[in-house]
Amino acid sequence: LLLAYDPVRKLARVQVNVERALVNARMIYEILDLEPRQEDVPGAKELVVSRGDVVFDRVRFAYDGHRPVLRDVSFEARAGKTTAIVGPSGAGKSTLFALIQRFYDLDGGRITIDGQDIALVTKRSLRGAIAYVSQHPYLFEGTIRDNIRYGRPDATDAEIEEAARLANAEEFILQQPQGYETLVGENGVSLSGGQRQRLSIARAIVRRAPILLLDEATSALDNESEAKVQEALERVMKNRTTLVIAHRLSTVVNADHIVVLEDGMLVEEGTHRTLVKKPHGVYARFYRMQSQKAEDLLEYGAGQSLA
Ligand code: ADP
Ligand code: MG
Repeated sequence: LLLAYDPVRKLARVQVNVERALVNARMIYEILDLEPRQEDVPGAKELVVSRGDVVFDRVRFAYDGHRPVLRDVSFEARAGKTTAIVGPSGAGKSTLFALIQRFYDLDGGRITIDGQDIALVTKRSLRGAIAYVSQHPYLFEGTIRDNIRYGRPDATDAEIEEAARLANAEEFILQQPQGYETLVGENGVSLSGGQRQRLSIARAIVRRAPILLLDEATSALDNESEAKVQEALERVMKNRTTLVIAHRLSTVVNADHIVVLEDGMLVEEGTHRTLVKKPHGVYARFYRMQSQKAEDLLEYGAGQSLA
């Protein structure tokens, strides 16, 4: 009997590894609706987003069922506002993003969107309400137009072009040999980091999702690209509930709310103004250290990146 179970357990393990690889690569889930590993509960309802308030309520989670990665994390990402998540590598920031999209079920607590428990709504409606812009935007084999359309398969050409304009991508697209019909991906033209990011932002815009998850790029772009990406991001963040894993000091300082995670625990939260005033605060200490650096990229502790 044990032998008979073995292949099943092996398969389950393979699936976990595949999901981990996908999440770590931060590629696929920015656009595709992965096959659900957790089925919808019987009678699951459609998520209805009226405002876009996201609430983490005593969220507990361990990937392996033992070692806690998030311990009773509670905070609110308010509708239409920007919440920056900061903390050292391994603190659990990316895990928060995976949980909002329900790649895993919680071990305790709940996450709600406008009062609806995300565990009780259909995954399709949940994923449809969320757009994700990753640190390392992924381009598929296909045209530039296709790559934007992945955000919402029924988007019209006019909507795709409007999204490209808002994302500050139109200018470089029109400079490509076939414009929107230019092939990108491994066998197509190569685009710079800043151009790929702007395509990824266009994809998020065309998706029209009220909730935006943004994992800021850690590597510096050239100055011109940087300014254009920043401007595009500001447009896409406007009027959306944005959760941003912040790697830039300016993002943190300008956020409406800051959540500081350490070792799976929320250790501080507030605005920049309130947090910098705490004499022994984690955030205040890290801000003081940071302000002494010329470079705007955040670092935390002994040369450890916030990513
Ligand atoms: P951060 O984004 O803040 O760097 P993560 O959320 O990626 O942190 O990781 C938090 C902890 O969970 C780390 O200890 C990390 O090794 C672990 N972890 C992350 N993803 C997985 C996974 N898919 N399977 C098992 N452990 C993971
Ligand atoms: Mg991370």
